[in-house]
Amino acid sequence: MKVEAGVATDIGQVREGNEDSYLVEPPLYAVADGMGGHKGGEVASQLALETVEEMFREGRGSLAEHVRAANRAVFERSVDDSKVAGMGTTLTTALVEHGSAHLAHVGDSRAYLLRAGSLRQITEDHTLVARMVQLGEITAEEAEVHPHKNVLTRALGTEPDVDVDELELGLLDGDRLLLCSDGLTSMVTEQQIEAILEAAPVAQDAADRLVRAANRAGGIDNITVVVLGISETGESGTGEPSVSGRPQQSSRDRRPVPPQLIRWGLGAAVLALVVAVGLVGLRMWLDGRWYVGAANQHVAIYQGIPAELLGFDLSHVDVESDISADSAMGLPLYAALPDGINATSREDALAIVEQIRDDLRKQARLDRGAAP
Ligand code: CA
Repeated sequence: MKVEAGVATDIGQVREGNEDSYLVEPPLYAVADGMGGHKGGEVASQLALETVEEMFREGRGSLAEHVRAANRAVFERSVDDSKVAGMGTTLTTALVEHGSAHLAHVGDSRAYLLRAGSLRQITEDHTLVARMVQLGEITAEEAEVHPHKNVLTRALGTEPDVDVDELELGLLDGDRLLLCSDGLTSMVTEQQIEAILEAAPVAQDAADRLVRAANRAGGIDNITVVVLGISETGESGTGEPSVSGRPQQSSRDRRPVPPQLIRWGLGAAVLALVVAVGLVGLRMWLDGRWYVGAANQHVAIYQGIPAELLGFDLSHVDVESDISADSAMGLPLYAALPDGINATSREDALAIVEQIRDDLRKQARLDRGAAP
């Protein structure tokens, strides 16, 4: 089996940095789409791919285990380093060898298979809207334009452990595999992707054209694509692609499910949705809250509120200033710094920090004037 790879990544038309990363180290290929303020997204997607590659090179464990190790690496870094606190990433990776592709996947980057001229998505999006579509609450078309279509239900690095979807796909001569970040799929329809892949038989050309199409459509996000052209299989099977999900779905040994269990299942799904919507609401509310507090002995701006819920911090450091927290607390006005000084917006919080700086300067001048 021969695999011809093409890859392209682009910052897009709007974003200030590219938080996507890719891996093209045959037989291993991957796309990761990082998220998190400042450099967080870039760090998360890079670190995830480095970890997967390193574990693969060392020949330790399965692809899903590599992805779980990447999750731990990103999570631990985000806990250790306040500058990248709360970062996370998607990861869609494919190991392509011996006539088949083994995929491991978390998040809303996607893998597609183009076979005999027709394109189909082979990964499942771990997004709130995908879940709502599954529950029949909204249609796939409504999901496309839903205001919360970017809300992930699963990502790498945001929790100590993560569920990883795994897929095994038998490959045929002429198959094309596409791995891509949502910067492509939120801009370009599947019909367009199919047409571009069909029109560009050379993998690199196809990758370049896909990125150009996303940019022409507005390029509101970073765009990353890996295109793999498969030829001369010979050892693989024939007919329908044998996509099988493990361990989430088992299509074998399907037995009738007792109605009681279906009701329980539905109840659990509805409960999960209510909790998810509640968490999304909480997240959105927290994102609009700001305060000035102390971090690493410095005055810092926090996003969120100075509290914990079930052991989770409801805030994270947005900016750590160079002002000593102890000196600030020496001024009666800012004695409450450790408890957090409320701000109405990020701008307001920045203004409070500058006010503290100003007041400290004034105080220092007074102190010098008073000294003999
Ligand atoms: Ca993205």
